[in-house]
Amino acid sequence: MITPGLEALRTAVGDLLRASPELRAFADWPAAPVPGAVAPLAMPAIRLIEALSARTTAATAAVVSAVRLSARDANWQHTYTEAEVGRDFLDRYGWFELVGPGGHFHSDTARAYIAFWDAGLHYPMHLHEAEELYYILAGGALFHAEGEPSRWLAPQDTRLHRSNQPHAMDTQDEPVLALILWRGQGLSGAARMRVG
Ligand code: ZN
Repeated sequence: MITPGLEALRTAVGDLLRASPELRAFADWPAAPVPGAVAPLAMPAIRLIEALSARTTAATAAVVSAVRLSARDANWQHTYTEAEVGRDFLDRYGWFELVGPGGHFHSDTARAYIAFWDAGLHYPMHLHEAEELYYILAGGALFHAEGEPSRWLAPQDTRLHRSNQPHAMDTQDEPVLALILWRGQGLSGAARMRVG
């Protein structure tokens, strides 16, 4: 279901991609995607997103505002189970697919998520086949990836994860809101926790 809020968010993300060479180079943004068959699905963290006051930049503020205003329209998901990450994590995290095979806007060639983690959460090592680019919209987090030094990311910073490269993340005293792009093989797949 496409609400005015989600349409405004798609427009804001499209503007951001066109203005960012790094985002533009990573993936093609569909000019006119078809509405997908996705309905709003609430989650506990919506109230945290609506109240989000974490720092942004001039480049990211419009997208962050559009996320807050469309938070109740979005189809929020939790990839993981309570056994994997615990109840507190599930209550203070969530993501939705704005554009993609299962997104509010359908595309078979691009996938874009909006994802949120509250302060003080540990996102354990996980992996997926698709290549991934994180772009921080608000707040910040410490990113870890196998074979690379950990790095703190702030608004407008990016981090690339290669196909099946295990990666993890920690938030500290502030939440993080991110735009996540996927491309390549496994575009319609899912992330899974690294075992062992
Ligand atoms: Zn990932």
